[in-house]
Amino acid sequence: MAAQDSVDHKYVYDFAEGNKELKDLLGGKGANLAEMTNLGLPVPPGFTITTEACKAYLATGREPDGLAGQIEAHLESLERGMGRKLGDPQDPLLVSVRSGAKFSMPGMMETVLNVGLNDRSVVGLSAQAGGNDRFAWDSYRRLIQMFGKTVCEVPGEEFEHALDDAKRAKGTKNDLDLDADDLRGLVDAYKKIFAKHTGREFPQEPREQLDLAIRAVFESWNAERAVVYRRQERIPADLGTAVNVVAMVFGNLGSDSGTGVAFTRDPGSGAQGIYGDYLANAQGEDVVAGIRNTVPLQELERIDKKSYDELLGYMARLEEHYKDLCDIEFTIERGKLWMLQTRVGKRTAAAAFVIAGQLVDEGLIDLDEALHRVNGAQLAQLMFPRFKLDHEFEPVAKGIGASPGAASGKVVFTSARAVELAAEGESVILVRRETNPDDLNGMIAAKGILTSRGGKTSHAAVVARGMGKTCVSGADELDVNVPAKKFTVAGQTVNEGDIVSIDGTTGKVYLGQVPVMPSEVVQYFEGSLEPEHVDNALVRAVHRIMTHADAKRRLAVRTNADTGADAARARRFGAEGIGLCRTEHMFLGDRRELVERLILARTDDDRESALFALLPLQRADFMEIFREMDGLPVTVRLIDPPLHEFLPPLEQLAVNVAVAQERGEDVAKEEALLAAVRRMHEENPMLGLRGVRLGLVIPGLFAMQVRAIAEAAVAVTRDGAVAKPEIMVPLVGAVQELETVRAEAEKIIAEVVADSGVEVLIGTMIEVPRAALTAGQIAEAAQFFSFGTNDLTQMGWGFSRDDVEGAFFWRYLELGIFGISPFESIDREGVGRLVRIAAEEGRAARPELKLGVCGEHGGDPDSVHFFHEVGLDYVSCSPFRVPVARLEAGRAVVETDGSDSR
Ligand code: PEP
Ligand code: MG
Repeated sequence: MAAQDSVDHKYVYDFAEGNKELKDLLGGKGANLAEMTNLGLPVPPGFTITTEACKAYLATGREPDGLAGQIEAHLESLERGMGRKLGDPQDPLLVSVRSGAKFSMPGMMETVLNVGLNDRSVVGLSAQAGGNDRFAWDSYRRLIQMFGKTVCEVPGEEFEHALDDAKRAKGTKNDLDLDADDLRGLVDAYKKIFAKHTGREFPQEPREQLDLAIRAVFESWNAERAVVYRRQERIPADLGTAVNVVAMVFGNLGSDSGTGVAFTRDPGSGAQGIYGDYLANAQGEDVVAGIRNTVPLQELERIDKKSYDELLGYMARLEEHYKDLCDIEFTIERGKLWMLQTRVGKRTAAAAFVIAGQLVDEGLIDLDEALHRVNGAQLAQLMFPRFKLDHEFEPVAKGIGASPGAASGKVVFTSARAVELAAEGESVILVRRETNPDDLNGMIAAKGILTSRGGKTSHAAVVARGMGKTCVSGADELDVNVPAKKFTVAGQTVNEGDIVSIDGTTGKVYLGQVPVMPSEVVQYFEGSLEPEHVDNALVRAVHRIMTHADAKRRLAVRTNADTGADAARARRFGAEGIGLCRTEHMFLGDRRELVERLILARTDDDRESALFALLPLQRADFMEIFREMDGLPVTVRLIDPPLHEFLPPLEQLAVNVAVAQERGEDVAKEEALLAAVRRMHEENPMLGLRGVRLGLVIPGLFAMQVRAIAEAAVAVTRDGAVAKPEIMVPLVGAVQELETVRAEAEKIIAEVVADSGVEVLIGTMIEVPRAALTAGQIAEAAQFFSFGTNDLTQMGWGFSRDDVEGAFFWRYLELGIFGISPFESIDREGVGRLVRIAAEEGRAARPELKLGVCGEHGGDPDSVHFFHEVGLDYVSCSPFRVPVARLEAGRAVVETDGSDSR
């Protein structure tokens, strides 16, 4: 809705007016607060300002018309409900002002607490708190600090230094030792800092505080760290954030107060039970910041049984209502429990599978829903190796396994250094006492994150889990000294650049490089773990969900493999054929010399003798692959790469020849080679003599390959196997190219195959835009198409696939020209359109035309969904991506078609 018709536009919703479906409008936090309110849970009263108000503000630089009045009206009703007025000197209502976007962006945007406090209401607050002056002044100093930093950009360290000074003057290291007078003094110091940086006094008018805080939250949508986070998490940039204004409740009113986070199941492993942390006499941000050490949530039973039992009841209720793992933030104010937030909780990849399986067992969801709740990126993560540990490796420290996986790398202490070394291709482990949102770039660049402080809900832990990055947090034996670029542990010093290994599952930290072993999920796929016999909840859940995905999916999944070993592995991973066997590599190594002979041949005899020598080698290559893929189709692509790849580099050869000539050596052979290399030198080899062009230029080359394929198929068939070869012609742009190759191939096939029963299909890659646009004609000559989306992307965009990702993609990503590299995930509108046109026109010309894709996109989750929508028959991807593609092909069915099944 446009901002202009804002006069009667509703920008503010009371919690009682919303529900969990309204995340677009109210953000995740606001929608869920509304849901809990309507479920009758004890949520402090409040209201939500919509994302539309934020978008209107960001577009025009001012609050939309009508917003101020609506805030006023909702504030008044909040005041009435609470029986207190915002900032009232005698009995003040205080509010928190919190961001809350559609997708959770932990710690990326702003929050201001205790809004409504000023020089007068601080006294009223103290009276409210039973004469607790210390609490009132501590709340006031927190407001000035948070407000100064987030609303007015006062450097946060200045406040930190003033706090340190106050503690030093008191001779303590603990905040809690500062009494009311100390904190009153600190408020004065903070106000001076505020005035120095802003040129004005700290605002005393409560409504002005509120309006400025709301504005700061709107603006924090575009803060640099939020922008970086969105890019990393692929969250659209135009959603805006909602703002929640909530009556404050206090967890820092003494030992009968406190605050905590809770999960209805273990977000690390998925195990059932109560998980979480509790911190007595503290406010919420103390827990998330990981600044003070928490106790396990179970301890709350001992501390305050009534609140504990009540909390457990709400947790069970929420889980049943959301039918999923929920995470919860709560506060206890003098024995009264308040629910401050809930949402469907983030979880590790392993927990996602395990929980989905459990919820099916509990009858809360069906298998389609379970399939929907996991994804290929998570499965890929579970296929990472883990550390192989024997007695040689003793951990030097143990922290909290905050995000699983195994990572080794060079220690770095700053985000900037992590980015720098990662750009040089190094694996790095970012080591910090605790991370904060400014470390985001370093966390993205690092292989793993290690902190000495903070729990499972600290910033490092939450962000790392979201990214699927290995993280150990709270390894408190580490003494981290960032300025000196070192840490000490167990009497040893580790400097920047030294190697450490961290295990994000167990929380253990090792010095040096620890060898790794394959994941159990990989062992299961490889067939060495039988799910029925395994006491492993993860393997059983993966098995169950994969079985369902296979039953659901319409797309077949093949693999790109060009050795028998790769083919065999992919088959164990569930590949249903080979979609691309690249034959180029078969011409390298010790066969190079034969290829050189072929290229340099002066006479037909020379050339034929080279081809004659290559034929049995190729036949053996194909026999091995056909045997491994017994009974399944194997698409063999005729040789593709530019010719110069088989010849020595021009410059080096020229120098060698010149040096040898100088020495008076016989260089006739080298000179001939040099002349040939010169002749074949190309400015743009990727657009040069490749693929079918090569086959048409070197007589007998494709014919030799076709013969080898057909002979291999006949030979393995004689041995009792079933070979299903499909010969694929690369880089075709015009039907005449394909017809020429096909005419020759058919003759050879007919002669070799005779009455052996072998059937050989002939088809083509569609990887040149012209081929896609003339697919109707090409289909007349092809029994199948396989989309080569690597080249189609290269030629569709006019990007060199070898150069551009490093050269300028960063800038395109920064500008939002694309959200992800089009080489990684298919560009649906452009390159995808070429695929769609070719599929439709190809099928119109030849209804039985088989359609597949064998570019890298065949293993990319989003692209798999696209190929499903377009109606291809199969995707083909590298062996390791085969399970991912199977899963995503199943998900594509439950997401796009609902009930369709194979
Ligand atoms: C393609 O272009 O997508 C393809 C599969 O072929 P190659 O990557 O070998 O060029
Ligand atoms: Mg290609």
